[in-house]
Amino acid sequence: MRKKIVAGNWKMNLNWDEANALFQEIAAIKKEGVEVLIFPSTPYIQPFIDTANRTISVGAQNAYAKDSGAYTGETSFQQLKSIGVNHVIIGHSERRAYFNETNVQLREKVDAALMHSITPVFCCGESLDIREAGNEKHFVTNQLKESLFHLSAEDFSKCIIAYEPIWAIGTGKTATNEQAEEMHQTIRSFIGDHYGEPIANSTSILYGGSCNENNAKELFSCYNVDGGLVGGASLKASSFKSIIDAF
Ligand code: PEP
Repeated sequence: MRKKIVAGNWKMNLNWDEANALFQEIAAIKKEGVEVLIFPSTPYIQPFIDTANRTISVGAQNAYAKDSGAYTGETSFQQLKSIGVNHVIIGHSERRAYFNETNVQLREKVDAALMHSITPVFCCGESLDIREAGNEKHFVTNQLKESLFHLSAEDFSKCIIAYEPIWAIGTGKTATNEQAEEMHQTIRSFIGDHYGEPIANSTSILYGGSCNENNAKELFSCYNVDGGLVGGASLKASSFKSIIDAF
């Protein structure tokens, strides 16, 4: 059975009081059978981990591949692990677009995460131009190939994949069920071709891109969609709860 996961990516939002209030509300949500992950801004990670119950995990939105050294402003996977972080988002499209992160750099981050027993939540997804040119499947599978397929089967099976079409992120424009299912199915069979069906069938593939309380139920009803990576709608406890309850 694949894990069902709902993850909230808070991005660079909320001051401490707002973030803490939201976290306490989310931490009080009870739902069997769904793993809840929260990715707040870095300064909030430690206090949230200290107060989190066992039903919620707190992760980081990014980390640097080196363990330590003269890299001003960066935080390493090793440091994150030392405060109890078990999940890191790797390759979010905003990191790729604004910070020029490449498939090769992301491969290094994936290796660093796994070296420190941190689960990568690896993001992939195409821009509108790429979809309109009909190249979305090739583009997305190539992202996986270049950043993940060097991994052993054992290491790959520790990763979570998030398919996030860039044209749907923060735009209010969600992929249709058919578009989401088609890409998730493509990703799963691509994984199957490389690692075999048992690993493909046990990999959680999340959908991200304007997932909200109104569309989550439909999206999560797709056979190959195992949950969501949620941006905007994770900033309101009631919306996020409805998304969790959509399972
Ligand atoms: C995201 O940035 O991961 C995301 C899916 O954002 P939104 O839900 O706001 O589209």
